[in-house]
Amino acid sequence: MNQAVTNTELGVKLPRPLQRLQDVAMNYWWTWTPDRLTVFRDMDPALWESCRHSPVLMLRQMSYMRLTQLATDPWYLNQVENLVRNFDSYMTQKETWAFHSMPGYDLQRPVAYFSAEYGLDESLPTYSGGLGCLAGDHLKSASDLGVPLVAVGLLYRQGYFHQRLDSNNWQTEYYENSNFEDLPVTLMRDEHGQVVTIEVPIRDRMVKVQVWRVNVGRVQLYLLDTDRADNDAVDRWITGHLYGGNIDTRISQEIVLGIGGVRMLRALGIAPAVFHMNEGHAAFLILELLREATAGGLGLQEAGDQVRQGCVFTTHTPVPAGHDTFSPDLMDTFFSKFWPQLGIDRKTFLALGAKRVDDPWDNFNMTVLALRYARASNGVSEKHGEVSREMFQVLYPGKTTEEVPIIHITNGVHARSWISPLFWEMYDRYLGTQWEEHLSDPEVRSRVDRIPDEELWWKHEALRERLIAFARHQVAQARRRRGEHEDWVNAAYANLLDPNILTIGFARRFSTYKRANLIIQDPDRALRIFSSQEFPVQLLLAGKAHPKDEEGKRLIQKIMEWARHPALVNRVAFLEDYDIHTARKLVQGVDVWLNNPRRPLEASGTSGEKVAFNGALNLSILDGWWIEGYNGKNGWAIGEEIEGHDIAAQDLHDSLSLYHLLENEVIPMFYDRDEKGLPRTWIAWMKESIKSLAPQFNTDRMVAEYVCNIYAGSCAVTAPRPVLTGAGFKADF
Ligand SMILES: *Cc1c(COP(=O)(O)O)cnc(C)c1O
Repeated sequence: MNQAVTNTELGVKLPRPLQRLQDVAMNYWWTWTPDRLTVFRDMDPALWESCRHSPVLMLRQMSYMRLTQLATDPWYLNQVENLVRNFDSYMTQKETWAFHSMPGYDLQRPVAYFSAEYGLDESLPTYSGGLGCLAGDHLKSASDLGVPLVAVGLLYRQGYFHQRLDSNNWQTEYYENSNFEDLPVTLMRDEHGQVVTIEVPIRDRMVKVQVWRVNVGRVQLYLLDTDRADNDAVDRWITGHLYGGNIDTRISQEIVLGIGGVRMLRALGIAPAVFHMNEGHAAFLILELLREATAGGLGLQEAGDQVRQGCVFTTHTPVPAGHDTFSPDLMDTFFSKFWPQLGIDRKTFLALGAKRVDDPWDNFNMTVLALRYARASNGVSEKHGEVSREMFQVLYPGKTTEEVPIIHITNGVHARSWISPLFWEMYDRYLGTQWEEHLSDPEVRSRVDRIPDEELWWKHEALRERLIAFARHQVAQARRRRGEHEDWVNAAYANLLDPNILTIGFARRFSTYKRANLIIQDPDRALRIFSSQEFPVQLLLAGKAHPKDEEGKRLIQKIMEWARHPALVNRVAFLEDYDIHTARKLVQGVDVWLNNPRRPLEASGTSGEKVAFNGALNLSILDGWWIEGYNGKNGWAIGEEIEGHDIAAQDLHDSLSLYHLLENEVIPMFYDRDEKGLPRTWIAWMKESIKSLAPQFNTDRMVAEYVCNIYAGSCAVTAPRPVLTGAGFKADF
């Protein structure tokens, strides 16, 4: 365990002309500015790779000699100056969207956003997948829009697990220690230089929690950490791993996040106007707010009414296992000293989180607690809103499903983080600067047609080629780690994949409902498709199975066993250890993004939105966001829901549809070339995909909807979604 608790101001002395790079390196703003590449990567491209794109780590490791070279290079200094100027003007901008349009805008009364994971960048391992990426993108857009928001999460000593496949294609896991000094995180201290700590009751002990700050543009993210020498050895590991350990670890983490999070905000003197629980993990914050209110003399009923005024909640999955529940026994262990502080007995306490309040054996359900005490709640796509209203109708006796007060706000992605700089520059040129703020203007959107087909295609092909180079390197390294023969290692560079052929990507968590092996439902037909010489197609796979999910691991194994066929070894590749870095390469380089979950279990999905910004086409089940996005000429819809609930029949039906689409539509359209070698129809679909999807499925639109329909106190819970039309959403509230 790391003893040293140091203040992580970079800790390197930079030559004077480079000094301001420290401020940029310590703010994740740099990850979404297009200049990031030239300034940090060009300092030392090899070191940049080995530091996993962490500027803090790189600056700490860079030789003084190299730094002085750069500090005397006028071309480089010019780049730095531009970057710093953009940074300063971003950070000091006053007239933001929120300044003009947010109801109740008040910098002193921010939204407090609570989430167990944040996916901001590959250099900060505080995320596992979609939920984290969504939270990270939420913060970035909140910063861009100027929404007063502070975020609360946990800083995990070892983050989420890393993945490797062994020679039997079986997933193995390992963890790595994070060295917090190498991350852009700063330990919070008071005005006397003392480390700020708060205490949280866990089992029979008071656990001390310290706080690290991460700058995300204008938004501050506070991460809680129990790894302190003055804590019991067991308690130091509470924040050891994201989604690791057992049920005791999970409940302890959620106590630190929810109860500790509120105490931390109080200790820092932050007075939130709204507490936003992103998923049920944070719902214990309600208990702390209830405790504060009852300590102030209110009874549970009045305290509850007061707390409800300040809480909002987003639910993220219709999969039952995705909702945390804790047994009454476990709740006894962790809360028997807590409920007396609320002035209530055990039965009343357990009923706060019980789906059926009169059932003493019912588990304590975090989603139920959150829904009971949230003034506004939402699901993450239109369909998911509908499904959630059905799932939780039981909590609202006397209401029909339509009347259940759970609205929906469809997930988006942070465009500036996911668009390749090459495309961004092209959009700047053809759509006008600040195009991303005006995409809902049909005129701006129609300018996508001005992009010459040749240029769009050429740039897309360059990105595909980069993806293939990246994939070859990843696979070669994986083969070397497995101790395979050097010829086989080198074969990855020489023969694996092809930069010029139709490239399909499939990357997401390997959980069974996502049906990663639908594509090999009929292995022979799949073999014919992927081994064709005439119309070649290749498949890139990535994704982790939860360490305890044997079935998920078997999915990976099965598809990679299929890919051992000699005709497939160079047409199918698995990229180990899926993370934001790999995701970025994939979504920017593939031609087609495949997604085939079991309906209606994909609450929204976001990776398909990332590819849309980069001109790739979605080939997806109509579920989650794609129901709203699909229009018949911007991608494909696989299958349809069949009568009855026969899973095997549905899988068969969907796989047949998938094969049919590939053989008769996707592949022929891709290889239908004119005399210049351009696939004109395909390019037209790429443009349609950009035009029709980019305006809707971004987090600027999403955060604007949260502000208006969820955060704004005046909004009715069942308010309709704002229609974002006209000259961009800027003018609409
Ligand atoms: C976007 C993203 C996800 C979420 O993808 P889904 O389509 O929602 O499954 C998961 N992991 C990473 C690394 C991502 O970038």
